[in-house]
Amino acid sequence: MTETSASATNGPDVPAARERARLSFDLDVDIAIVGAGLAGLTVALEAARLGASVAVLEGRHVGWNASGHQLGTVMPGYGLPIGDLIARIGFEDARELWALSKQGAEYVRATASEQSMPGMALSEGALEVSNVDAGDQLISRLQMLGEDFETEVEGWQVDRVRAELKTDRYFHGVYYPKAFQVDGRKYVHGLAALARRAGARIFEDTPVVSVDSSGIRKRIVTPSARLRASHIVLAGNIHLGATLPRLSETLLPVWRYGAVTAPLGGRLAEAMTFQGSVADSDGIDHFRIVDGDRLMWASPETTWAARPERFAPAIARRIRTIFPKLGRVEIAETWGGAIGQTVHGMPQIGQLRRGLWVASGFGRQGLNTSAMAGQLIARSILWGDERWRLFSPFELVWAGGPTGRVAGHLIGMWGRGSSAAAGALARYRERMRTKERIHEARLAEANRQAGTRPPRPSRPRPPPGRPHAQRPAAPPTNTADAEGPPP
Ligand SMILES: Cc1cc2nc3c(=O)[nH]c(=O)nc-3n(C[C@H](O)[C@H](O)[C@H](O)COP(=O)(O)OP(=O)(O)OC[C@H]3O[C@@H](n4cnc5c(N)ncnc54)[C@H](O)[C@@H]3O)c2cc1C
Repeated sequence: MTETSASATNGPDVPAARERARLSFDLDVDIAIVGAGLAGLTVALEAARLGASVAVLEGRHVGWNASGHQLGTVMPGYGLPIGDLIARIGFEDARELWALSKQGAEYVRATASEQSMPGMALSEGALEVSNVDAGDQLISRLQMLGEDFETEVEGWQVDRVRAELKTDRYFHGVYYPKAFQVDGRKYVHGLAALARRAGARIFEDTPVVSVDSSGIRKRIVTPSARLRASHIVLAGNIHLGATLPRLSETLLPVWRYGAVTAPLGGRLAEAMTFQGSVADSDGIDHFRIVDGDRLMWASPETTWAARPERFAPAIARRIRTIFPKLGRVEIAETWGGAIGQTVHGMPQIGQLRRGLWVASGFGRQGLNTSAMAGQLIARSILWGDERWRLFSPFELVWAGGPTGRVAGHLIGMWGRGSSAAAGALARYRERMRTKERIHEARLAEANRQAGTRPPRPSRPRPPPGRPHAQRPAAPPTNTADAEGPPP
């Protein structure tokens, strides 16, 4: 993978290369973990806290990939929409999985507390905005989340969304008051520090070359040492590659790029006052204010590794498209990371064979889900907690190898294109509705002055023998939306 931004790799949070410990001697442990991202480090921390001897083997350095380059938004849920989750596994299991995802978010909050990770700059609230005017869908989603899945949510009308985000790109919103933001880079290094303190050993610059999981004691080979363990946890995301090619091929790698602007001063308030994170419901843009007057923004994606700097102009254009009032913005820093997408949209959590575990495929929502995975796996190994089996319906499905990447890219482009088209259509309809309202108001005024009234539209009669159909309750959207588009 291409290295990410200079400050991300050499900044104050990241230990310099000379300080990194490489595994150079043979070692025997209870649990060996491949990968020092969010997933591997959470398993390490939890297993060490429960008294196991733990070694983490990381090919580069802590947080090298996505885990060190995320936006820090912590929300309940998964990449798979809640309706699809219910359709796939039924209501009761979906509720349990949702509850686990909430516990994952709570775990991050507790772990990132001021006592254990000082200076995490925690901020509250996340807003999911729709770029089409689908108020009725929003209502049913709110009901399901609030009543059936016991998640605190608020429905925001278009006016409320646009009071905080001054753009006509977004319509309704779902506000999660219990969601929050952490400093993503600090969090992953904080996890490593806590895991070390709990007794886990973390070896960087130590790529795992091969894994033999056949015996009771499993074996791992690295370039300069061997390791034996009763349990191996594969938390290498898409970079496991040749070590376990069949497992790697169940993930579609997607590189996502992020940036932070130069300070925007007072003009930022003319575009946005909302202090939590914002994500659109199509998963295209994800942003928030950092350092008081900068925007942190993630948007473009590719299915191949590219230099993040290349995307600075694209991100600047994207910011301007959403917030034209901001005018030109200067990008101060860019970065990127690869996420692993599964075919079904749910993470891979569980035991592949006796003593061989996987914690991967967290997609764009990795903070709460990897926290949950870390707890589930550590507790299963050490306490016999079997709740990871709730993920069994989501098997390892081949993601298509190189052909899958091309298909994934085309599907991604199509998805973005069609959602941009849907957004344009929604804005067009809104303009037309405004024109229509002005037209109707003028007509009413003209009729009033002339003392005439427009003819009443005739109501269709119900067919004989059928009761009058109940008019469905209008969704509590603004009147324009409830009326629907003009003919
Ligand atoms: C731009 C961007 C923004 C994001 N924003 C958010 C957000 O706001 N909220 C959220 O919840 N999620 C977000 N995500 C998603 C989140 O970052 C990921 O889901 C999560 O970091 C995945 O963690 P991981 O531990 O599975 O993988 P990784 O971070 O990829 O860690 C895996 C590690 O394993 C190592 N490894 C692999 N193979 C080997 C081997 N053979 N030997 C040794 N080591 C190996 C790799 O070097 C790597 O360090 C974002 C992602 C990106 C890219």
